[in-house]
Amino acid sequence: MINRDRLVKEFLELTGIDSLSKKERRMADALKARLKAMGYEPWEDDAGKRIGGEAGNIICTVKGTKNVPAVMFAAHMDTVGPGTGKKAVVDGDMIRSDGSTVLGGDDVSGIVCILEALRTIKEKGIEHGDIQVVFTVAEEGGLYGAKNLDYSRIYAKYGFVMDSNGPIGTVAVKAPSQDKIFVTVEGKSAHAGLSPEKGVDAIRIAASAISGMKLGRIDHETTANIGVIKGGRETNIVCDRVEIMGEARSRDERKLEEQTRHMRERFEQAAAEFGGKIDFRAERLYPSFNIPDDAPIMDILRKAAEDAGVPLVTEETGGGSDTNIFNGKGIQSVDVSTGMQKVHSTEECISISDMVKAAGFVVSIIRSVS
Ligand SMILES: [Zn+2]
Repeated sequence: MINRDRLVKEFLELTGIDSLSKKERRMADALKARLKAMGYEPWEDDAGKRIGGEAGNIICTVKGTKNVPAVMFAAHMDTVGPGTGKKAVVDGDMIRSDGSTVLGGDDVSGIVCILEALRTIKEKGIEHGDIQVVFTVAEEGGLYGAKNLDYSRIYAKYGFVMDSNGPIGTVAVKAPSQDKIFVTVEGKSAHAGLSPEKGVDAIRIAASAISGMKLGRIDHETTANIGVIKGGRETNIVCDRVEIMGEARSRDERKLEEQTRHMRERFEQAAAEFGGKIDFRAERLYPSFNIPDDAPIMDILRKAAEDAGVPLVTEETGGGSDTNIFNGKGIQSVDVSTGMQKVHSTEECISISDMVKAAGFVVSIIRSVS
């Protein structure tokens, strides 16, 4: 049902466009042109301006031919680096980069699955409800596009984010939320040889706080890490300032709050003990999501998997994606595999037959909305 040659051609053309985060102008223009060529009216929001990027998110609503709930299909336009001068190499059923950059199948594979599915339903006259296509900017490194999307234009009830890996039919239904943690420990400097007793050692405060802290894997759905610690000037000065960055994640919001509170308390207790000061800031990067088995979107997916002849595999993920943001905005969403492999590396690759199956799965999802 899917036009394999056209899909591969489009994949090669689009991965040939440089599209690093916040530098998606050419990609956005190319996608708008393709949507217009199909007879649709893509619209670009002002997220680019708000995040200091070249392009905004693209929203394109395809009017339905039957009265069923609207659905959203999303993919992101940006890639991680090294991503300049990408050259895809077709090797039998596999497409890889030439080894010097990422392939960019993350997330061009999602984009082409959506575009090819739209062409297919049009050509085959497949009945469907309203479809809202969303191509986001700056997903990598902060989900900035999804966070700044113009949600006033989105009325879809269900979202399918084509941006995951695994066998086709794999969907992530659970993902953690994350707090990013910034701590400044302030002590008091003094000469380390002449009058150390006049100083308050920020390094000792930090060490004491961290050594008594629960870190690493807290439980099956909660993790925490101190990733960065900076401070000190000279060995003969009692250190008066240490800056620390860390994170905590959990698929359970309550546990995340508890873990972040625990980390804050450890710093506060240590500072009180040694007579220093703490500035502790936690920033919620994205909310968690947890789609239960009896959610309406799971009915659509079960029907679609049967229609496409793929096993539906539900998964929990440890990462954050646009899917977290969409769920936080009230659009019940899952992250769907396109077959991408070894993403964020120069070994990134994808099998053509997987991508064809993933595009077919998109058509099946569209057919299964009722
Ligand atoms: Zn991605």
